[in-house]
Amino acid sequence: MSNFSTDAVRAGIESDQQYGAITPPLYLTTNYSFAGFNEKREFDYCRSGNPTRQTLEQALTTLEQGAGATITSSGMAAVSLPLQLVKPGDRVIVPHDCYGGSYRLFSTLAAKGHFELEFIDQNDEKQLKAAFARKPALIWIETPSNPLLRIVDVEKISTLAKQQQCLVVVDNTFLSPAFQKPLTLGADIVIHSTTKYINGHSDVVGGAVISKDKTLADELAWWANCLGITGAPFDSFLTLRGLRTLPVRIKQHQQNTDTLVDFLQSSSQVSTIYYPGLKSHPGHEIAKRQQSGFGGIVSFELDGNVEDVAVFVESLNIFSLAESLGGVESLVCHPATMTHAAMDEAARQTAGISQTLIRLSVGIEDEQDLVNDLQQAFAQVEFQRNEKLLRAVI
Ligand code: PLP
Repeated sequence: MSNFSTDAVRAGIESDQQYGAITPPLYLTTNYSFAGFNEKREFDYCRSGNPTRQTLEQALTTLEQGAGATITSSGMAAVSLPLQLVKPGDRVIVPHDCYGGSYRLFSTLAAKGHFELEFIDQNDEKQLKAAFARKPALIWIETPSNPLLRIVDVEKISTLAKQQQCLVVVDNTFLSPAFQKPLTLGADIVIHSTTKYINGHSDVVGGAVISKDKTLADELAWWANCLGITGAPFDSFLTLRGLRTLPVRIKQHQQNTDTLVDFLQSSSQVSTIYYPGLKSHPGHEIAKRQQSGFGGIVSFELDGNVEDVAVFVESLNIFSLAESLGGVESLVCHPATMTHAAMDEAARQTAGISQTLIRLSVGIEDEQDLVNDLQQAFAQVEFQRNEKLLRAVI
């Protein structure tokens, strides 16, 4: 068995039988000829199967240490896939601070009677115990969570779930298998928005669902074909290309984030930092145990008001004001008006997402340039604040 970096780089390399191409070819064809009457080949129709997509599925199965995977057309398609395994009346437990798009999907489906839904704080022992007492069919975990980087103990929850045949699904988008492998911690299914770290270049929207067990993997592949949510071959080709550099990208994301967290700690304009790498983070010890890196996302509260937030994000020159995360380029996001706008204000408050919360997706640019960019944007906030005060006095 080879190591993670080797598996990521070598996925599908030299697999071409026809010409000995080093990188696996891209098969764009929608359909395949039958070898003869009633003689179906390995592939017949692209929605059901495609060699390029299969190479990516095999690569992610290896990297997540699963038994099989399905590549979907988006991260949200990946979120929706395990939900096909539950039926009306089944209970689904979801973290109260999950990604806004997942929150919208879960609550809309539940409102239509697809399943019974319970949002809980999975770190609250009482809430967790009460939720398990109601015999859930599926528990959804997102760790670290978006955008507050809360950490959930996957091993502990998986042990509780196993006692009552409850499926454990982990959204591993924020870390990628380079830093966390939930199936090795007891989860049944891992999902990804491959749009983020796995592709890593902000040019493909995609998703992946990887299962620990072959029967489950086959059932999910059946559903993806049935629903028509499998990923496009060209997207798979690009994602596979991005995946090859994941091990080196993630190291640089980590190094730059460590530097920025140090800087944020020294800034008088930051009131709270949410980063699992900090000893003060409530999930630090669990993160140390279940992750092999703390990740490239850091959120913080700007000590000020929402006008200060506007000045800050608009003053940044390198960090782009944009949704998404995990690409090589640095991004800044205001969750309340962007990624988590799908939640209503009350739900955002319960989840702890304030108007002054800012999330950074730290890219792989030069770390000092990134520090300088934050520093000058904080200076702008200070300057504009003083200007306002002066104007008020005059
Ligand atoms: N899960 C998480 C944690 C996310 O952050 C996102 C998107 O931001 C998704 C799922 C959905 O992925 P996509 O945008 O690829 O549909």
